[in-house]
Amino acid sequence: MQLIIFGAPGAGKGTMAQNIQKFKQFSHISTGDLFRRHIKEKTDLGKLATEYIEKGLLVPDKVTEDLIRHELDMIREDFILDGFPRNIAQAEALDEILQDFGIKLTACVHLDIDPEIVVERLVNRMSCQDCGAPYNLIIKKPKVENVCDECGGQLTRRADDNEETIRHRFTTYHEETAPLIDYYKKQGLLMTVNCNEGILTKLDQVWEELSALDK
Ligand code: ADP
Ligand code: ZN
Repeated sequence: MQLIIFGAPGAGKGTMAQNIQKFKQFSHISTGDLFRRHIKEKTDLGKLATEYIEKGLLVPDKVTEDLIRHELDMIREDFILDGFPRNIAQAEALDEILQDFGIKLTACVHLDIDPEIVVERLVNRMSCQDCGAPYNLIIKKPKVENVCDECGGQLTRRADDNEETIRHRFTTYHEETAPLIDYYKKQGLLMTVNCNEGILTKLDQVWEELSALDK
């Protein structure tokens, strides 16, 4: 099963990608996570990516596409692409990569959410720097402030989860990423999931629909 997940910042792409794995094991390829790892390790790609990420802009297509080609070359089946593609040019590049590798997409899952809900979600979002466990200062507070319940690690906030960058990420989403809705609708691959109530309550239903497509 080969899936794309996309949606506005904070819609729950990462949460969906992680939790759907209770039904089936997937390789989870998140361009955002890959860039953040490069930034942490201070690679050249990390230095380049920082300049764009901190402004809420997209990292240049060529760089991102090469990264994805490399990842897919190692995997090729049962993957979730989380955060890629993010504009039409990337979607076209992905079509080419998939064709080269003889891979077919099962579905493109669009996580649809009310913008007002996500801004609040993002400014309150934290995660453990050691195990990655997600927290939310309103819905899911840690027992001890800034400390992970699971492993005792330090909780941190993503550098781009501040109000100004969040605003730019939304503009980028509407201008560049939202056109993917039509792109994948035309290919007959679009599945839209309303995420205003969170993604977890929808998982069973989403999985049922995906399984039907995979037959
Ligand atoms: P969110 O969707 O919440 O903004 P992500 O972790 O998916 O979070 O992405 C964080 C940032 O990484 C984006 O704002 C963008 O700068 C960069 N990024 C992620 N995926 C891509 C991509 N496919 N193309 C270009 N830039 C990307
Ligand atoms: Zn932890």
